[in-house]
Amino acid sequence: MKKNIILMGPPGAGKGTLAKQLKEAFHLVHISTGDMFRDAIKAQTELGKLAQGYINEGHLVPDEVTIGLVKERLSQPDCAEGFLLDGFPRTLPQAEALSKLTKEISREIDVVINLDCDNDELVRRISGRRVCKNCGAPYHIITMKPKVEGVCDLCGGPLYQRKDDNEESLKVRLGHYVSETKPLLDYYANLGLLESFNSLTGKEALFDEVSSYLKK
Ligand code: AMP
Repeated sequence: MKKNIILMGPPGAGKGTLAKQLKEAFHLVHISTGDMFRDAIKAQTELGKLAQGYINEGHLVPDEVTIGLVKERLSQPDCAEGFLLDGFPRTLPQAEALSKLTKEISREIDVVINLDCDNDELVRRISGRRVCKNCGAPYHIITMKPKVEGVCDLCGGPLYQRKDDNEESLKVRLGHYVSETKPLLDYYANLGLLESFNSLTGKEALFDEVSSYLKK
């Protein structure tokens, strides 16, 4: 079973949804840098205040800040059972820092799962996305409606639209994806770690395909 996993793909490809399914199924520690930043913004910590401006406009938070955050989390004992990195690394310096860190703490990356998705679908998914304010569960106003409008099925929390889920920020985020994150696919392919899946198959089919692959 492959237990130390990186999830990659453009914004809206379904990383968060898949991560939550895999976390439940395989008891992995889910490390989402986006969620960590959003929690810090909610609590208005120093980190949150720093990250807020970058995130709302769709820019990447500086490498040294993001790398420090992941180093601290990944070094914690619960990650020894398996971890799922969602949204990290996003730049070459982050990927290199991660390789160095995993060596230092003797935890190897087993696989990089890449989710492919076309641009029109990304825009459709992001513009209709709603998220639970309490537990972070993802919804979509057309394809993944909650039972009661505006209320999370899982915890009853209120649903909201992320500030960076608008057309302007999405353009910037896709630009960063193409110029800084997409080149990492070659980096991991060269290390023999890359495995790509088509995220258009639907969330249950995608989960089944990825789960079967991880169990091999
Ligand atoms: P996500 O929830 O993964 O879509 O991340 C939301 C936002 O958080 C991104 O658009 C970035 O502004 C910031 N962010 C998350 N992960 C990283 C990262 N690895 N490097 C830099 N910024 C990040």
